[in-house]
Amino acid sequence: MARVTRDHQRSTPPTICWRGRRGDLSSGDQEGNQVAIRAGRSLLDQRRVLLHELAHWLTDRGHTELFWSTGVDGRLDRPLRVQVRGPDPNPHLA
Ligand SMILES: [Zn+2]
Repeated sequence: MARVTRDHQRSTPPTICWRGRRGDLSSGDQEGNQVAIRAGRSLLDQRRVLLHELAHWLTDRGHTELFWSTGVDGRLDRPLRVQVRGPDPNPHLA
């Protein structure tokens, strides 16, 4: 996270608050420097939601072209080394 913060000229990394939720899928919110993840059982979906909310944090925008290119093209995946282990309970997301 420190590398992503530095690479994108942000002064401080976001505060990430994790909470569990029932079911397989996760959801998240971002406001300012706060990212909230409500994590379901699917590790792959947790990863996708985290990257989605971090892309909002980096771009400070809604779902614009800049937003999608930040989170979806892999620029966040590699430096964050987000790990996904185990079988995914949602094969449609794979
Ligand atoms: Zn969004």
